[in-house]
Amino acid sequence: MQFDSIVGQDRVKDYLTNSVKKDNLTHGYIFEGPKNIGKLEMAKIFAQLILCKNSKEKPCEKCSSCIKTNANSHPDIHILKLDENSIKRKDIDELQNSIYIKPYESKKKIYIIDDSHKMTVQAANTFLKTLEEPPEDTIIIMITINKDLLLDTIVSRCQIINFEMLGHKEVEKILVQEYNIDSEKSKLLAGYSKGNVYKALKILDGEDKTLEYRDEIVNIVDKIFEDGKRAVFDYEKYFNSGKDNIDEILDILLIWFRDILFVKENISDMIINKDKLEVLEKQSKGKNSIRLAEIYDIIQKTYDDFNKNVNYNLIIDNMLLKIQEV
Ligand SMILES: [Zn+2]
Repeated sequence: MQFDSIVGQDRVKDYLTNSVKKDNLTHGYIFEGPKNIGKLEMAKIFAQLILCKNSKEKPCEKCSSCIKTNANSHPDIHILKLDENSIKRKDIDELQNSIYIKPYESKKKIYIIDDSHKMTVQAANTFLKTLEEPPEDTIIIMITINKDLLLDTIVSRCQIINFEMLGHKEVEKILVQEYNIDSEKSKLLAGYSKGNVYKALKILDGEDKTLEYRDEIVNIVDKIFEDGKRAVFDYEKYFNSGKDNIDEILDILLIWFRDILFVKENISDMIINKDKLEVLEKQSKGKNSIRLAEIYDIIQKTYDDFNKNVNYNLIIDNMLLKIQEV
């Protein structure tokens, strides 16, 4: 695999390539950044480059090491996925033993730990011990959404590699240029992508339910505008069952109300939900721009309150009541 197969993250690619070129590798890396942004792929390609027998600039794809890496069968690359459960005792024992054994056929032995914040304390301590007295030939790459979820003592011994989100405009450009998606659709997908091309593509193929949620939310706003308070109490249930996705839901609400405001103000090139223009026009009718801007602030505040652990039902009720007053 090549770094080119990952969208964006040029700074990370340059940094990792240079470290290999200059033989400037450390024993521990933390790849930190949002979900689905290519961290695991980056770690695999980095490992492939480190072990490639022909090149220090890009994996040659031809040597025995590259071939095994691509087939996921390299004996010196260990990938631990923690997405289902944390690692079990047996795995840790195996790890503890293997970490001090020489690499089978390469100069280095590489451990990639996906979702490393889900490690048990026991597993974390195994890695910590390794990082404290690293065997010359071992490299550990820990992948996480947030390094603050890892032990401080681990973080302080690792090189932190930050993965950046892209701007919406950049995502939009990539979707148009590299995926041949038409510009209106690209704008919609980019608007909901959170700066993540992979999320945009998942929304497109339906694996990500953002657009389904959006349609539900648009209906709810419709009903609240039509039926007032009565509808608010009907929809408490919806928000209660959506508790786990509340960040997502509030995001969609924010984008939606911003669009209503753009329609009201005739700023059409900023509208993300162009496919729902009719509904936006209907909902903006008779509304006051200042009040709409207030709603935008209230949703934003709900977002913040939610992260501060304020009573969930209370803040949701409060937000919905304000929406119906508009
Ligand atoms: Zn190679």
